[in-house]
Amino acid sequence: MAYVGRNALVLTSVAALALSLSLFASPPADAYALTGCKFNGTDPVVTYVFTGLVSTSRRSATLDGAAAWNATTVPSTFRAWRSGDPLRLTVDEASYTDTFEARIVGTCPTGVWVGNAVQMDWNTPSSGGLGGNAYALEGIAVHELGHALGLGHTTGTTCSGTASVMRNGMPFWSCGWGTWPFYDDRQGVRAIY
Ligand SMILES: [Zn+2]
Repeated sequence: MAYVGRNALVLTSVAALALSLSLFASPPADAYALTGCKFNGTDPVVTYVFTGLVSTSRRSATLDGAAAWNATTVPSTFRAWRSGDPLRLTVDEASYTDTFEARIVGTCPTGVWVGNAVQMDWNTPSSGGLGGNAYALEGIAVHELGHALGLGHTTGTTCSGTASVMRNGMPFWSCGWGTWPFYDDRQGVRAIY
């Protein structure tokens, strides 16, 4: 009898654990709390335009990064700009003295990108020495496009806690190459829109 009772207690505990897990199954990303710039709408179609200065490697990386986000089920879609499209991501490339591989530039005093427009700058030749590593460049593009959607930088050290493509300094590289955007990144975008 005592044995049966112990089993019943264990089952109850497992059931309680399952319930508590389901309550916390969809946390917004840590990154979401760190910024407040987003596009207008609940399912924005963000259209990209490349300036003539963008190299083939950076153009390809941007397209691959956009495709990686599009492959998820989060709100928002990236596609090429067509006449009349209201949401714009201008992609440029230059040689900056600052040490960054790429960045998003825009302002959002009301929480929405002014004019629903931002600029993504690639920095070449980059001080990080990435050169033409297509996979690394794609990861950077996923990161920057995450900023464009409204995600900030997550904290934490390499592979500790929840994987996120939004870690500054790109230590996420060793935590799941090519599987970005990660769960936490996707949940962040869902929370924003
Ligand atoms: Zn960043």
